[in-house]
Amino acid sequence: MSDAGTPAPDDTFEASSASPEEIKGVLDAQRAQLTEQLHDLGVEGEAGIVDDNFADTAQVSAEQGEAHALAAQLRDQLDDVEHALARLDEGTYGTCEVCGAPIGDARLEVMPATRFCIQHAG
Ligand SMILES: [Zn+2]
Repeated sequence: MSDAGTPAPDDTFEASSASPEEIKGVLDAQRAQLTEQLHDLGVEGEAGIVDDNFADTAQVSAEQGEAHALAAQLRDQLDDVEHALARLDEGTYGTCEVCGAPIGDARLEVMPATRFCIQHAG
């Protein structure tokens, strides 16, 4: 009279290797965040904040310089994220672009958009 099914512990998920869907989710979120930060800076277009009527103090130019430097960084990151998304589609995500070796879960967890293994990270 025991109709109790065997309690199968169905915990087959692996803790450290995220599924492509999960990775895509993370990258999509990063892309959205970077796009928003760029938007906030107001320098999406290269000529974005150049305004001759307004930029008559050194202060303003300095701020613009900083904004542009930050924007350049954000664009670099955004580029990496988009690149990683493309590589996810191609099935080459998670390998180093220099040596082709697997980048490793731990590293990808910290930097999901990285293109290089730890040796070639520069
Ligand atoms: Zn490498």
